[in-house]
Amino acid sequence: MNRAIQSHSPVPELAPSQLWSEKVYVGGWGPSGAGTIEVTEKATGKIIGTIGRASAEDVARAASMARDAQPAWAALPSPERGDILRTVSRLIQEHSAEICVQLVRETGAIAPKAHVEVELAAREVLEAAALATQPPGLLLASATATRRSIARRIPMGIVGAIVPWNSPFLLALRALGPALATGNAVLLKPDPQSPICGGVFFAQLFEAAKLPRGLLHVLPGGAETGEALVRDPLVKMISFTGSSRTGRQVGATAGGLLKRVSLELGGSNPYIVLDDANVEAAAGAGSFGSFFHQGQICMSVGCHIVHEGIVAGYTDNLVRRAQALRVGDPSRGEVHLGPLINERQAANVERIIRESVAQGARLLTGGNRRGLFFEPTVLDHVRPGMPVFNEEIFGPVAPIVSFRTDEEAIELGNGTEYGLSAAVVSPNLARAQRIADRLHSGMVHINDQTLIHEVYGPIGGIGASGNGYKYSSVTNADLFTEWQWLTIQSEVPRYPF
Ligand code: NAD
Repeated sequence: MNRAIQSHSPVPELAPSQLWSEKVYVGGWGPSGAGTIEVTEKATGKIIGTIGRASAEDVARAASMARDAQPAWAALPSPERGDILRTVSRLIQEHSAEICVQLVRETGAIAPKAHVEVELAAREVLEAAALATQPPGLLLASATATRRSIARRIPMGIVGAIVPWNSPFLLALRALGPALATGNAVLLKPDPQSPICGGVFFAQLFEAAKLPRGLLHVLPGGAETGEALVRDPLVKMISFTGSSRTGRQVGATAGGLLKRVSLELGGSNPYIVLDDANVEAAAGAGSFGSFFHQGQICMSVGCHIVHEGIVAGYTDNLVRRAQALRVGDPSRGEVHLGPLINERQAANVERIIRESVAQGARLLTGGNRRGLFFEPTVLDHVRPGMPVFNEEIFGPVAPIVSFRTDEEAIELGNGTEYGLSAAVVSPNLARAQRIADRLHSGMVHINDQTLIHEVYGPIGGIGASGNGYKYSSVTNADLFTEWQWLTIQSEVPRYPF
């Protein structure tokens, strides 16, 4: 399962720990104002290093430097901005072994997940580079013959990017790349559990690519640092990826300050399998969708909604697959599942299972853990209202609920407050499409599972999964710029008074 990762990269180390030790990156590495954060290897609990925790003063200092640097960046010929991003993409490829090793250690990812994350990130930044040379505006019709009328995109100014720990490299870059490409400066706040993959690497990559100083700052920290970023008056937009609970707070604060806020939040994603589906293929895709990265992806399959005519065979197949998966330290052997991110999350997954079983769900396999190593778990007899159905689990748990009619499948698919990703499996494309058309979801996939990421497709959710802004090559320009109406006359026209 694991592709080999070289732990010793042929190129010089990108982010040696002495560089960032006890520091934050505000126009360069320097002392932090709010103490330090221990960076740990999730599989062993071992401390990898100690990074600085950014204070509100650090945030304000970074914002002030960004304000000074951003106008010249926005005025630079846009192909030059694109060139810097293309260099970053190349550097990511060159340093991919080091980045992958760190992703495995810092997030508990298995090596193939880390590889995919790095490859996707390199692609995201290339697409962002292309954005820099897209036409920046439109020549408009005008009611006055002498008036030249233009709609043009202008940068937001300073963008605050707040990212989670589960895919920190990709999720930081999907905001950072297009924000910089369109002429903004960025204050990046990685999660304290993944500050190297979500922060330090970018300081180093962009410095090596010769991004002018002052345009990118890395401010590790938790809720307090995040709140300071949202509240800073110089920060004009917040790009937030994280839980729905935190997203509500961030949205309320940013909204009160009349800032643009893009919220990409949690999900509980329905995977609907119709009675004419190939059970073997559907269970294989469903197993991957629920267990990849220990189920800790916003788009992981939440509930397996399976037609009653095939549910017995599907369940047996899924249980067999779950029992064949190996769980362990991804740095020390070939495993399918690494550790969960922390004790709080592991205990929450246990609670969800316990409460659901108490309400009538049946535990078919799994349900146990050794520390953070959670067994792949399958539950059936699941019903709406149970925590395993209603909540985002963020663990390797596959709940199964059966249905009789397509109408019932739609109702179950729309049965949570979330609306991130959904999927329908059937060889009857017209029937699958009819169901897909009625699912309230930011993304819908026919004949695949819910966990699909491409920079080309608009990624984002509705309902409790987000406010509908999306990241992708078709939406990023709208996300990270304002439209400005510019008119030009060669002479001031005469007015009646
Ligand atoms: P989280 O909400 O706890 O934290 C996300 C980020 O917000 C972190 O950087 C955290 O330090 C910061 N933060 C915490 N409190 C804050 C506050 N009061 N103000 C400002 N920032 C604050 O989420 P998490 O547990 O780190 O990440 C997992 C969640 O992210 C899951 O719900 C998952 O579904 C979601 N997610 C969504 C997407 C998407 O694209 N929709 C992608 C990945 C993850």
